[in-house]
Parts: sequence; C-alpha cells; structure tokens
Amino acid sequence: MSGMSEEEPGPRVSPPGKEAGGWPAVASSLRHVVGRDGLARGGRALARLNQVGGFDCPSCAWPDPDGERSFAEFCENGAKAVASEAMKRTIGREFFARHSVADLLERSDEWHDKQGRLAEPMILREGASHYEPVGWDEAFAVLAEELKALDSPDEAAFYTSGRASNEAAFLYQMLARAFGTNNLPDCSNMCHESSGAALSAAIGVGKGTVSLDDFAAAEVILCVGQNPGTNHPRMLATLESAVERGARMVAINPLKEAGLIGFAHPQKPAGLLGRATPLASSYLQVRVNGDLALFRGVAKCLRDDPDFIARETTGYDEYRRLLAGTRWDDIERLSGVSRRAIEELAELLAAGGRRVITCWAMGLTQHRNAVATIREIVNVHLMLGAVGREGAGLCPVRGHSNVQGDRTVGIWEKMPEAFLAALDRQAGIRSPRGHGHDTVGSMVAMHDGSVKVFVALGGNFAQATPDSGFTAEALRRTRLTCQVSTKLNRSHLIHGRRALILPCLGRSEDDAGRLVSCENSMGVVQASRGRLQPAAAGLLSEPEIVARIGEAVVGDVGRIRWRWLAGDYDRIRDWIEAVVPGFDDYNRRVREPGGFYLPNAAKQRKWNTASGKAEFSAAPLDAFEVAEGRLILQTLRSHDQFNTTIYGPDDRYRGIGGGRRIVFLNPDDMRRRGVGPLEEVDLTSHWPDGERVARRFRAIPYDMPPGMAAAYFPEANVLVPAGSVALGSNTPTSKAIEISIAASGPVEDPKHGHPRSS
Ligand code: SF4
Repeated sequence: MSGMSEEEPGPRVSPPGKEAGGWPAVASSLRHVVGRDGLARGGRALARLNQVGGFDCPSCAWPDPDGERSFAEFCENGAKAVASEAMKRTIGREFFARHSVADLLERSDEWHDKQGRLAEPMILREGASHYEPVGWDEAFAVLAEELKALDSPDEAAFYTSGRASNEAAFLYQMLARAFGTNNLPDCSNMCHESSGAALSAAIGVGKGTVSLDDFAAAEVILCVGQNPGTNHPRMLATLESAVERGARMVAINPLKEAGLIGFAHPQKPAGLLGRATPLASSYLQVRVNGDLALFRGVAKCLRDDPDFIARETTGYDEYRRLLAGTRWDDIERLSGVSRRAIEELAELLAAGGRRVITCWAMGLTQHRNAVATIREIVNVHLMLGAVGREGAGLCPVRGHSNVQGDRTVGIWEKMPEAFLAALDRQAGIRSPRGHGHDTVGSMVAMHDGSVKVFVALGGNFAQATPDSGFTAEALRRTRLTCQVSTKLNRSHLIHGRRALILPCLGRSEDDAGRLVSCENSMGVVQASRGRLQPAAAGLLSEPEIVARIGEAVVGDVGRIRWRWLAGDYDRIRDWIEAVVPGFDDYNRRVREPGGFYLPNAAKQRKWNTASGKAEFSAAPLDAFEVAEGRLILQTLRSHDQFNTTIYGPDDRYRGIGGGRRIVFLNPDDMRRRGVGPLEEVDLTSHWPDGERVARRFRAIPYDMPPGMAAAYFPEANVLVPAGSVALGSNTPTSKAIEISIAASGPVEDPKHGHPRSS
C-alpha cells in the first residue's frame, strides 16, 4: 500500500527498557494530549476518562477498579487514544478539496491520524479523484440505493470495530438482520475469536472467568503471549499490587518486554523517580507458537485435583493417556523451554494453593493451533481446579474497549438460535438463520465479487486485515464502501466504485447528555457519558447514524421504529434487556457507579457445555515449523500505536525511535545471514499460493529465541495470507508466518512486475 513509504530514514536504536511506566509515560501522555487537544480541552478529557459519570476509555478493555478510582484513572496509551479522538482540529470540504485520494494514499497512517476530526459527511462519486461534501440525507439515500439494488442481502457486509457501544452495536446487528443478512464481520474475528471458540467448548462461556478481585487473591499469575506494558498498561498496577502482596508472576513470551520485567508506577513518588517494582520472577522465552507444547509439559508433571476433576469435568482419562504418550524431547524441542524450567513452573502452580490466573492475548490467538493451545491452558486449570474459585481463573485480555460487549449484544455472523428467536420476538422481524461471513470470509467474498457493498461501523478494515494487497483488491471491487468514523484512515482511501465517510461523535464528546455503555474484559457493563464539546456541529452519534441507515434502507419494519429507538438510548437498552440474558433492570443498574457484572456460569462452576461438564481436550501436540533457513515472523504493535492507529514513530520500551519499517531478529540469526544492525532487508512470506514481499525493513538485533522475527502491523500485514487462519476460529495467523529475509535491492519500479509487495 503506498503511503507506507519504503524510504524511511534509519531509526534511532537504544537498549530496550527494563521497566514500563515512570516519568517518561507521564511526559509522553502530556505531550500527546496538550500537543493535539490543548491544555484546556485535553485536561477536561483526562479528568473524565474512566471516571464514574465520565466516559470509558476508547482504547483497550482493561477494567476500572470496582471501588475507589484514582484521580488519573488512565495510562499513557489511554491518554494517547483520548488525545487522538479529542482533537480540536477538524477536516472537511476544504481539506478534501486540497487533497485527492491519490495524494492522501501517499501519506503515512500517522499523518492521517494527525489531520484532525472528520467534520462532515463526504462522498467520493464514481470516477472522482476527490471526496466532496454531501448532506446526511443524500448520504443515507446513496447507501440505501446501493443496498436495495443488490440481488441478495448477503451481497452486503456490515463490519464492526470494538469501539462501538452496546447501544450502537445492538441497533447495527438488528439493521443487518432486518435487511436480511448475518454478514457481521468484526474485529474480534482477528483477535480473541480463538479464545471464544476454545472457552465455549471447554467451559461453556466464551469469556474470561476472573474479576479484578481475583487478582488481589491470586498466588500465581501467568502472562502468556501478551505485552501489557503497551497494550493494557493499567494492568501493570494490578500486577504490581499482586507481586507486592507476595504473588508470583511468570511471563511467557518470546520477546523480552519491559512491561513484563518491571513497572515504575507513575502515580507513586518512587515510580516517578524511576524506581521500578520487578514483576516477572520467571521469564520463559518460549518459541513462537511453542505454548501448546509448554502447557502440555506442565500438565505432564502437574499434581492434579482429583476431587474437582471427578466432580466437575469429563475427558480426563483420554487426556491423561495423551500426556503419558507425549515425549519430553518433543515438548522441549517444540516449546523451546527446558524440562527443568517446565517442572519448576508446574511446581509453582500446584504449590500456590492452586490460586492461579492465566492471562493471554494475541500471542496465543493468532496461530493455526490457537484454539488447541488455549484449550491446553484450560486443561491445566481444570487439573488444578483453578476455575470458578477465588484468586483463580482464565483471563483473555481484550484489546478493544467494547469488543466483548459487541459480541454479547449480537455482533457475530453465527449467533445462536436463542438469540435470533428473542430478537425476532422483540423486533417483530424474521432474522436470517444461515451463518454469515466473518472478517476473512468478507475479504474473500468482496474479492470474488459475491459481496458488493461494505459498511463499517468504525475501524480501519484495510489496515487491520491480513494480506493487505488482497484486501485492497477486494474493497476496490465493491460498488460502495461506507465508513462511520471519527478520524481519517486508509480505509477511506481504499474504496469501492463509490465511497461514503459518515463522521460520528467520539466517546469523549457530549451526545446531548445521553449515556452509552460498554463491557470490559471481565464482563462488567458500565455507563460512558461524553462531556466534551463535539469537535464539529452537526456530527451524529453512532446510534443515530445506524438508526438513520435503518430508516433509509429497511424503513420502520415489524416493531422497529428507528428514530424512536435512537431518540432515547434507554429504549435500546430495554430491547437489549428483552433479548440478551443478564441485562435485567439494565437502565437502573448501568447508572450505578461502576455498572454491573454480567452473569458468567463458569464462575459458579455451571458448565454450559455439550456434556454439562467442564471438558478436557486432547489435541495432538504440534507447533508451527518452517523450512530450513526460514524464520517465523510475528506481527506486533509498537508502543506508539493502538491497533491500526499510529500515534507516533517511536517504540520506547523496545529502544526504537523514529521508525516503523523495523524487523526484530535474533542476533545470531543475523550473524548467520550476514545481516548487520540497521541493514535494510526484504521480508518474503511463503504460502502455497505464492510469495508476498514487504521491502526495506531495518534489521534490529533483539533478545528473542533463534528462528524468530517480529515486525509491526499494519506494515507487515501484506505478508499474512488471507488463507492462513486458525482452525476452529478462522482468525488470521498473524503471529506465525513463514518468511525468508534478504538484503534489499535497489527500489524497483512496480511497472516491471514482481511478487505481491509493499
Ligand atoms: S489500560 Fe486500557 S482501558 Fe485503561 S486507560 Fe489504558 S488503554 Fe485505556
């Protein structure tokens, strides 16, 4: 994709950090907030961020304390997210008149984010080079015209990013179903879908089973395939409290990450002075995709809880036979961790009163065997009896503020019959029953022409998805792309024959005093009420935009009265309460300080599984392996990004300043290949359908196991084939891609044809 220019000056490289937080985090937060919003507006935003009566952070989904909250209940990356959203600067007709789509494509993602808030609806007419202003009514009419012209509702796809509130998401899924399709791809397809699939099968609920209180009682906390210092920074305060209380934290991650090593709490004098609390007492640098083998090894030498197993579970005998038949050689080779270290971990887990919490993120979910790996972790917890008890449980940490809530209120291409029947009863419609397309399915369907209209409620589909070249071709083959957004991004520039940008209010902004709600990683639903003056007059809220689309496309059908619902969000919540279990008395409880916990049967050891018991799995032992001389690439975030939003070019904790076309490599692997530090290399991924190339990345030696490589997304997404997905969840395998590296040649002229590249 142009704009992510290959020509990038060499980054500044310094030794990676040994702790996260501290004064640099405060300085960075202030720089972003004051720099973009100004002291007054920025200060007002931070004063309300994650506060009772304030608004929920639009970034990750780490929970707020149940009790008293800090005066600054946010982290550096929460501050950056708010700084990006609460910008005073706006862009509208003048900006788009100055910049053609082609020109904007040449700009970087960071530049896009810095341009300001979208201020008015814009349309790109067929064959036009520039977006132009369009009235709301005409915009909705254009979308309705395209949708109604389709031969089948399944020729449309309705994408959701995890920022959408419960209220907007509920209306949106109802819109798609009233229109006649279940094509509801969403960003969780690319992140924790594997967690949902594994947990639903094993314990009967697709969510984590712990609360913050459990962290206060845990004896051992495992952080697996997760980098909380960048992706869930407030979690570090929770981990610090646990460690200070005597709990042991174990980091399991191929890369040495500052936020797993130590934390200098910026709201404590010692922390501000840089005195960090050591976090991980043990750091296992597992091989990429070696986690299944690691936990198989742990289970092999773990002292189990026979009473719990006999009472609560099924499938243990088969699993025990599998353990007995699994060779330690294979475990050590595939995990990259020694038997001794694995035995020590098993001892630690069984010793700590079995109050064990395992946390994980994309480092586990974006692999071909992700579902089997997460089930292996559940197996270990079932052996320990460490589910549904105080201080113990499973904790997939969600990376987007309401991604879990969106799923709960119906954003899924395969919602169960119970939900669809309840929705039909409430809305007076007949929802389709055939499963729709998820994210990868939608990419493929747009590419083969079977999906012709793409609508996105937030997000940056073109950059978030794998196989960037393929996705771009797919989006460009549609008749219309329509994005509901707050900021300019690359998905506005990789578009269908026609394109619409519908600017919406941000979560930090006053929405006529109305509150929305979100669900965090631990199943807490709480209110979010924006307080800032909207960035521009005439912006509509997400629920209003969805209602207006509903009105234009399907009209008031059944019992649905779109404007009436969007006129008072209490009405939408009444409908959610009627359709989704666990939302009783929603409107009263959501207004209580801190909101309310949704029921989670597994916490009470009620297993809504096929057998009615918690289920052991017995997957074959495997790990991703590559041909001789190749490497396993994982994509990851820098510290200056949230998903595809790039706040800046630095990655402070990994010692990188001013560069994104970076590939981290094991120093010995570099020496063996004659690649010097900062040397420019091309990355080529290998897949049955051919090669994909990402050019001119700077090679950076980094503390990681041999045979591994790591590069940022979206720059490296071009290397991830659309067809490379996790079994059982269809999640792109962005954490394990087979690549080779070679010194970069001279910049080639694309006209002369070479493998798909960026
Ligand atoms: S930890 Fe996550 S939710 Fe909390 S302030 Fe930081 S980015 Fe926002």
